[in-house]
Amino acid sequence: MLIVMKFGGTSVANAERIFNVANRIVDSYRKGNKLIVVLSAQGDTTDELIEKANEINPDASKRELDMLLSTGEQQSVALMAMALQKLGVPAVSLNAQQCGIFSTSTHSNARIKNIATERISKELDAKNIVVITGFQGVDRNDDITTLGRGGSDTSAVALAAKLNADLCEIYTDVDGVYTSDPRIVKSARKLSVIGYDEMLELASLGAKVLHNRSVELAKKYNVNLVVRSSLTNDEGTIVKEESALEKMLVNGVAVDKDVARIAVCNLKDEPGIAFAIFSILAKNKVSVDIILQSIGRKNTKDISFTVAAGDLNEALKILEENKQRLGYSEILHDEEVAKVSIVGGGMATNAGVAASMFEALYNEGINIKMISTSEIKISVLVSEKDADRAANAVHEKFIFNEK
Ligand code: ADP
Ligand code: ASP
Ligand code: MG
Repeated sequence: MLIVMKFGGTSVANAERIFNVANRIVDSYRKGNKLIVVLSAQGDTTDELIEKANEINPDASKRELDMLLSTGEQQSVALMAMALQKLGVPAVSLNAQQCGIFSTSTHSNARIKNIATERISKELDAKNIVVITGFQGVDRNDDITTLGRGGSDTSAVALAAKLNADLCEIYTDVDGVYTSDPRIVKSARKLSVIGYDEMLELASLGAKVLHNRSVELAKKYNVNLVVRSSLTNDEGTIVKEESALEKMLVNGVAVDKDVARIAVCNLKDEPGIAFAIFSILAKNKVSVDIILQSIGRKNTKDISFTVAAGDLNEALKILEENKQRLGYSEILHDEEVAKVSIVGGGMATNAGVAASMFEALYNEGINIKMISTSEIKISVLVSEKDADRAANAVHEKFIFNEK
């Protein structure tokens, strides 16, 4: 079988962990499998590199940041190849440029466009275990890009899709996908199976166990995906296409603390204003999430919305630069917010789910700042300090009680 095995930062954090993982890889290799191993940077390396950059220049260009951040993954792959060689198996490490993982030029959030397979195939044919850097790509100018935080999952799934792998195993520090983040919700349950769609929603709404774009790709190319622990032999969670019959009312609860709210106050209440705000932000690649517009009063209105916390300063700067054109009186912002969401394929056909969610929050005395709904999810914005309590209350209401 051709298997892609991806190991996250905690799984390769130190020499002992590297050998733990290397032994797993050797076991699989000795069974006759062809292996592509995708690695993240060790432990908190990526965060530490970001801190280093901030010490030098907090406004560093994204190109240079990518040049720096990509070094974390490069360390991991070289160390892993060394460990595998020490265990007596042939291995070779490759970075994105060497194996040809071509991406767009959007530094810090690049998308994989294509993967050249020649080098990888050649190494596999030579019986090598191929150890590849996650999280990075190379653009058409030969510049190194990164795929966004958590992007190593996407590297792994993209490789599995392109090479038509039989299986893509994502090894992490939890033993599968749970009904909510097990570090926040103690009663969270491990799921043996989850559908691509529900997983995609959970990941997009903040469940960082899988990078959302990895799930998108897995669905598109029907990749056999499993999430499991690098420290135990427990069966993990299979992520696959699920039939409508199996759809649960609520599959999971996601918490995203990396959000910020912006309110643009006293805008003119006339056509074209929302278009102006959001097109300026989009042009600058700032994604906007929940949007709320107040009812107009005295010919003015307020528009508030959420962005990823990392985009807050950029968004404020852009809005400030366009103050004249947009004609607002002031901008408020709040970083102490979090988004709590419920996700479930069965929600579309069930009335009263939203009301039950709001009741759970009301019973906990938690104030809702914004609401957004779709066919398969409901999100609320709450104070960050209330987020864990909110997740637990909502989880209790929908999932724990349905055991
Ligand atoms: P890795 O470094 O292996 O990529 P991550 O830290 O990116 O690992 O993702 C694993 C983490 O995701 C877990 O430690 C857990 O806290 C968090 N998580 C959030 N939501 C979920 C969920 N629904 N199921 C499992 N883990 C979750
Ligand atoms: N090292 C990168 C990060 O910390 C990518 C990853 O771990 O998936 O975000
Ligand atoms: Mg991750």
